[in-house]
Amino acid sequence: MKKVKTTVIGSYPVNIENMELMGGYFNQAEISWDKYIKSAVNDMVGSGVEMISDGQTRDPFVNIFTRKLKGCRIRDRTEIVDKVEYNGPITIKDQKYVRSLIPEDRQLIGLITGPYTLTNSSVDLFYKDEKELAFDFAYALKQEAQILQKHVDMISIDEPFFSMGIPEYGKELIKIITKDFSCPKRLHICGDVSKIVPEVLDMPVDILSHEFKGSPNLLDAFKQYKITKNICLGSVRSDNSRVESVSEIIDHINKGIDVFDDMISQLAPDCGQRMLPRNVAFEKLKNLVKAGEKVYG
Ligand SMILES: [Zn+2]
Repeated sequence: MKKVKTTVIGSYPVNIENMELMGGYFNQAEISWDKYIKSAVNDMVGSGVEMISDGQTRDPFVNIFTRKLKGCRIRDRTEIVDKVEYNGPITIKDQKYVRSLIPEDRQLIGLITGPYTLTNSSVDLFYKDEKELAFDFAYALKQEAQILQKHVDMISIDEPFFSMGIPEYGKELIKIITKDFSCPKRLHICGDVSKIVPEVLDMPVDILSHEFKGSPNLLDAFKQYKITKNICLGSVRSDNSRVESVSEIIDHINKGIDVFDDMISQLAPDCGQRMLPRNVAFEKLKNLVKAGEKVYG
């Protein structure tokens, strides 16, 4: 059986000191985020997970990007006030830092929040045209991804809004970002994708990531189709603080194998773990790693 890696989706919980946030806000000073990134990364490494992210501690996954793109300003939500354009590296510095922290036997995931999700999470005061805005986000993200791929082992595009329905130009948006990539590319869509399985299987990526633990009906949905992509099997819930036991996770992985056979290439939580208590997130990852070792050696 081929090597199956344990991995994360994106965000990881850390305890950010309020005083520090307030200080940074009132002084308009850039506070040093390194210690938060380090504590998230140390947890992921300590759990035994093989593919690690920066934990997205700096900002929620939309703001990380819109804070640094031209044409966006952050109020309660991101507002689009001008043409969206790339304005220089967004996540590269953090990724280089994470690389310096992790042992050589671990791999690094570059995270990109997808153009359709950025579009749907923003208040558009400029374009008044969803498609045009989504394409400008995609072109800007492409520039980030081109630099990012030199520093990471895989790029994961996070498009939860695709679960509400993929627009007819959805595949093209992803293609803009992933075209001419040298590193593997994963598409993560949480939520219910049972109605859009054929479109998802047709996406220009190598690995598909979905919340198979929280939505076991997805296994039945995928069963109807020929699986042409590698699968990142969501195997512990991200929306529920109950820590799944190792044997429960093993049972779930075996259900996944019944549907996907050797197309499973990664085991992960269903989604980012930001909303979980930190010790719960850590225990879930540890049990995921143990279950993965039991099943795949
Ligand atoms: Zn997700």
